[in-house]
Order: sequence, then C-alpha cells, then structure tokens
Amino acid sequence: MTQKKLNELKALLAEVNDLNNAAAVLGWDQATYMPAGGSPARGRQMATLAKVAQEKFIDKRVGKLLDGLAKYEESLPYDSDDASYIRVTRHDYERALKVPPAFLAELNIHGAESYQTWTEARPANDFARVRPNLEKTLDLSRKLADFFPGYEHIADPLIDFADYGMKASSIRALFKELRENLVPIVKAITSQTPADDSCLRKHYPEAEQMKFGEDVVRQLGYDFNRGRIDKTHHPFMTSFSIGDVRITTRVKEDFLGETLFSNVHEAGHAMYEQGNDPAHEGTPLAGGTSAGVHESQSRLWENIVGRSRGFWEYFFPILQSKFPEQLKGVSLDQFYRAINKVEKSLIRTDADEVTYNLHVMLRLDFELQLLEGKLSIRDLPEAWHERFESDFGIVPPNDSDGVLQDVHWYGGIIGGAFQGYTLGNVMSALFYGEALKAHPEIPNEMKQGRFGTLHSWLTQNIYRHGRKYTAPELVKKVTGADLTIQPYIRYLKEKYGALYTL
Ligand code: ZN
Repeated sequence: MTQKKLNELKALLAEVNDLNNAAAVLGWDQATYMPAGGSPARGRQMATLAKVAQEKFIDKRVGKLLDGLAKYEESLPYDSDDASYIRVTRHDYERALKVPPAFLAELNIHGAESYQTWTEARPANDFARVRPNLEKTLDLSRKLADFFPGYEHIADPLIDFADYGMKASSIRALFKELRENLVPIVKAITSQTPADDSCLRKHYPEAEQMKFGEDVVRQLGYDFNRGRIDKTHHPFMTSFSIGDVRITTRVKEDFLGETLFSNVHEAGHAMYEQGNDPAHEGTPLAGGTSAGVHESQSRLWENIVGRSRGFWEYFFPILQSKFPEQLKGVSLDQFYRAINKVEKSLIRTDADEVTYNLHVMLRLDFELQLLEGKLSIRDLPEAWHERFESDFGIVPPNDSDGVLQDVHWYGGIIGGAFQGYTLGNVMSALFYGEALKAHPEIPNEMKQGRFGTLHSWLTQNIYRHGRKYTAPELVKKVTGADLTIQPYIRYLKEKYGALYTL
C-alpha cells in the first residue's frame, strides 16, 4: 500500500519535473541561439509550461499522498532516500500552496514588465523610469512574505526561498562579524600599489580563449558527455537532468580573464549537479540545496582553485604556449598577481574576491531596510551613493553603475536576492578546509594538473546529496559544527598576506 502511494507520488512529480525541465530547455535556447523574432512566443510558451507544472504540483492528490506517507516517513532514518524524498517534497508543496496562483501570475507579469523597463532605464541612467516598478516590486515582495505568517523578520520567508534554513537575524550576525574582519583587510590592501594586470588586457582572439576555457574545465572534471558550453550575454548554468547540465560563457577579446573564470565558475555550479546521486534523477532531491551552497561550489573552483598559485604552476606554461606573443616575458608571479588584483570598484560582478562581500552587504542591508519600511524607493539612489562612498571611498558617477547595476530587484523580488553570494564565499573556504583535512595532498596534485581527489571528495560529501540536506544541515554534517567565517578569513589573510603587506 505504502509503496503504491510512493510510486504514484513519484510518477506525478516526475511529470512536474519533466515540464519544468522542458521549460528550462526553452530558456537555454532563448539565451543562446533563438532569433530575436522568437521572443514573444517564447515568453508565452515558458509561462504555459510553468503554469501547467505548478497546477500539477499543487494538486490535492499530492497533499493526500504526502499525508498517507507520513507514517512511513517517520519509520525511516532521516537521511534515507525515501524519507528525504517525502520531506523535501512536503516542504516544496506546502510552500507552493501558500502562494495563490493569481498572485504568482501577477508577480511574474510584473517581473517581466519591470525587467523590460530596466533594460532601457539602465543604459539611459534613468532611475525615475523604474521607480514605479520598483515600488510595486517592494509592495509585492511584502505581500509574498505575508503569505508565510509567523516570521521573525519580514525578509525571512524571502531569504528562505533562496537559502532554506537561514534567517535575517543569523545572516546579520554572520555578516557583522565578517565585516569587522574584512574592512581592515580591504583597507590594508587598497592603500598599497595596485597589482598591474595589463598582461590580461591585450588582444586575445576568441577561438583560442574558447578552446583554452574548455580544456581547463574538462580537466577540472566537468563532464562533456553530460554537458556543453555555448555563448550568451550573461553566463549561467542550467540543467535538464543529471545527464545534461550545461554552462554558458562570453568572450571579451581585450580581456583574458572573462571567459576563463566565467567557465570555471559555471563549471563549479555544473559539477555540483552532475555529481548528484543518479538515484535522484527526476526527483525533487536532484539539484543544489541552496543559493549559498551552490555558490560555494562555483567560488571554490573559481577562486580557491582557479586563482591559486598552484593551479597556475601547472596551467601558466600551457597558457603561455597558446598566447606566446601576449604573454612573452610575463612571469608566473606577475600573472598570479594580475588575476588576484584587489581594488575598490563600482560593479559587484567585476569585483575581486576580497571587496566582493562589501557589495553584497550593502545590498542586503538595503533589502532589509526597504522591507522594514525604514527606507523608501524614492530615497534609494541617494542612500546608495552615501553608503557606497562610506564603504568604498568612491562616489558612483551615476545610477547606471549604482543602484541600477543588478538585475535582481528589477526582474524578481526585493529580499533574499544577494546573501547567497557571500554565504557561498564563506562556505567555499569552510568546505575546502575540510577537503584538505581529509586529503592534504590536494594542493600538490593541483600543481600537476590533477583535480580528481578534490572532485571526488566534493562528490562524496556535497554533490551526491543534492537537496537531501538543508545548507545548515550540510555544513554540520561536513564540518561537525555550525557555519563560521573563520576559515574564510584565514584563507583571505593567508593568500593576500603573501601578495600584500597586511
Ligand atoms: Zn554563481
């Protein structure tokens, strides 16, 4: 009887999963190869699939089956596949049920309009144009939170969407401690002569950059039998099954870092999902457990591995042989300093790994203040300028490179959009530290271009679990303790202490 119910639930959810993944294929095509003329129909097609998937998912039958399986779940160990399947499905189901479909439709339509306005307002430096949209976004974000009564902070339900298990209060405490440690490091580095990165800013032809970027991620462990790389405007990873996890990239012929580090970053996201337990195929357990954990994997590979000296001991001679003219006379140390240049800059996505978190903290604080009603959308550009100047010592010359720079608030909701990036940085060092404890040989292997030990440790300890554990549960399981910033601060001090006087 129980098995019959479980099979019925799995069959139902497999269809939901198929619809969502079919929509994802359309989204990938839209961002890569679709001609512009396909745009209106494509938006509608994706919305239709999402609507049918949602209707199927919130069907009363799903709730009945979950109720019928509650006793069975209790009889199982917490981390068994079946118990986890039921638990994660129930969490998703209850969350989906709380938001009325009509509200969701309104939110999506508003998001699409707001995004469209933003694509025109940003280049025009015209905050006034998006202001009414953003005011409505704030209003809708508050309403969305209110479908989840009983929260401690109004941002909590919104943070929970991206980083299940985290709350404004815990993130605030973590970020406060991080900030206290980070500000002196940023100050010390940025008061010294900046690194010279002119060797990255020569002419690097597209074809060779694409080839090198592909070779590197193949060597890290990204499986091209279950993935591929295509060009797009804003690189992303997307997956349609554990057997098809794709990444996208972009090329700047006058900057060597773009394609390479974007590939390594997105391949980090992709290896996480390629490494899911094959038994979770087509179930809610496949994928990544939170924005923060997902980002910890992209950043572990991009920054801790891809910007390490050991990594380049192996790859720099290869890179030099691909670009002999451009890198003639450039030493490994010069190159290493160039790819780890730290500077106070305007744009979050271009920021180095040290100053990056200050960009995130500023955004999180504004999200919380906006949701609390302590800051109005009208005053946001001014508040941005003031805070930016006090944090970075730079006055943004306009709103385009200030409050208008990130898509998140203009295409989605206000709340929960940014904390995952910094949580990811913090967790990347935490997880890497654990991998080193288990396998102290990893840094030496890296110098020989071998990444298998690290990749399989990550697969065993993080990737294969997919969504089985929440981020706080996963951290506890891997490290034996709660999330702490200390390994991340140690990592920064060690790495940048060798590059600068700290
Ligand atoms: Zn990422």
